[in-house]
Amino acid sequence: MPEFKLEKVSSGFASMVVQEPGAEGIRSCYACGTCTAGCPVRRVNAAYNPRKLIRMVLLGMQDEVLQGKEIWLCSSCYTCQERCPQGIRITETIIALRNLAAREGYAPSGVSMQAKLIKDQGRLYALDEFDDKKRKKAGLPSLPSEVAGATKLLDEKE
Ligand code: SF4
Ligand code: SF4
Repeated sequence: MPEFKLEKVSSGFASMVVQEPGAEGIRSCYACGTCTAGCPVRRVNAAYNPRKLIRMVLLGMQDEVLQGKEIWLCSSCYTCQERCPQGIRITETIIALRNLAAREGYAPSGVSMQAKLIKDQGRLYALDEFDDKKRKKAGLPSLPSEVAGATKLLDEKE
């Protein structure tokens, strides 16, 4: 995790984050570490630490949080959120941080590409004959190659 530098603190960062849906309660974090103790990502990557991420937000470490890779490591398993004694919606806070990072152009290229695919065709990958064959075999109807409803929804959100 990056070093804290007072001169780089963004005083409005925490206020900006708490306005995002799901992140409203982060100011009640008392740094108990329950989230980190149960995090499965933490078990395989000691550098990942949701408690520290929340602390960094509250300290105004905007560049380090939004430009760093940590927010993209969360597997969205919700273990931390279910266990937090303060009822903080940690997983949703991390999603909110990803949204903020993406709006500022810091999303990893793979994520941006997936977003573009969903926006353009309503799916992560194009359906081909092979998929249709498998669906038919399983007794399922074939699917259209584009999902107009999804692309329209995303257009309306912009
Ligand atoms: S479990 Fe909740 S209160 Fe404890 S450190 Fe994590 S976010 Fe903060
Ligand atoms: S939701 Fe993310 S931060 Fe929380 S326990 Fe799961 S992987 Fe860790």
